[in-house]
Amino acid sequence: MTRSVKGRILTPAGAVEGALRIGAQGRIEAIEGSPVDPAQVRDGTGPFILPGFIDLHVHGGAGRDIMEGGDAALQVARKHAEHGTTALLATTMTAPPEDLRLSLEAVGALCRAGAPGAARVLGMHLEGPFINKGKLGAQPDFARPVSLAELRELDALAPVRLLTLAPEVPGNMEAIAELVAAGFRVQVGHTLGTYEDGVQALERGARGFTHLFNAMTPLHHRMPGMVGAALAHAQFAEIIPDLLHVHPGAIRAALRCIPGLYCVTDSTAATGMPDGEYKLGRQPVTKCLGGVRLADGTLAGSTLTMDRALRNLVDVIGITLPDAARRLATHAADFLGLADRGRLAVGAWADVVVLDRDLRVQEVFVEGGSIDVPHAG
Ligand SMILES: [Zn+2]
Repeated sequence: MTRSVKGRILTPAGAVEGALRIGAQGRIEAIEGSPVDPAQVRDGTGPFILPGFIDLHVHGGAGRDIMEGGDAALQVARKHAEHGTTALLATTMTAPPEDLRLSLEAVGALCRAGAPGAARVLGMHLEGPFINKGKLGAQPDFARPVSLAELRELDALAPVRLLTLAPEVPGNMEAIAELVAAGFRVQVGHTLGTYEDGVQALERGARGFTHLFNAMTPLHHRMPGMVGAALAHAQFAEIIPDLLHVHPGAIRAALRCIPGLYCVTDSTAATGMPDGEYKLGRQPVTKCLGGVRLADGTLAGSTLTMDRALRNLVDVIGITLPDAARRLATHAADFLGLADRGRLAVGAWADVVVLDRDLRVQEVFVEGGSIDVPHAG
């Protein structure tokens, strides 16, 4: 069965007022319509049709955490799909090896089989354990130096698409080239490294930065730190645009500096849930006023969803809708090397989000399959 979605369609070649046809195989079969003046894309009543959001940093949602194993990843992928996310990386915490294995075993089955009614889980983002004990953020202290053997073992359980490491931890800088040669994508984060460490990590094959500005050495003009290395040299980096983790001015600065800057949620179990007590991995956290914190007040991930990220970028940060669509989908796909996701183009997966004039989610399609959106009005 084919079906058609009508509205203002954001394609890589510009916006079109018309219809996008989804083929029986879940791919985009055709996009037809008349071009829209780039300056007027946001005008009109909508609906706006964007590439489905791709979130490379998801710990949880709907009260569940990826570290739980079992069907947690499925429930998380369902919750995020309601908010327009069509593909994601299930993200682990720093944890003992047996806890990581439990989590990856469960996610592996979901990656292989997929599941209707949920965002596509593309694989894992290992946020740690190869990070700096001195910059754990909200991660528990199970940090350890990188081990290719452990990584290979985990990758056999579920595809490890991305790993965060601190290059200044002894052994990690030297390991980057080996990890990259083995096919792993390396991102710098939870780090006390210097500017020089950052530059060297990029030279050795690291490609991005984990939640830019958070849990890394800040920029000082005589000691530019890991933030300075990212702003001066990075092609790609994550940022959390919940407006709690990073000041809007710092987001604007990063947007000017990093061509492939893309948004992640770093979302926790508390996402889509009322205020209260939750777990991040094994740690108790409290959700209050939109923030999730450890008992000492440290921010412990977010409750952000990608549709809110879109509204924050457009309505608060002030970027255009096409630019926001790139920051929420295309750049993340490019970072992972996926040419058939993150863009509305003939032949690509029909991962599609349909939004009303206020940029609220109305319809979502994952590989052509329709998602139930309970809050659509
Ligand atoms: Zn995280």
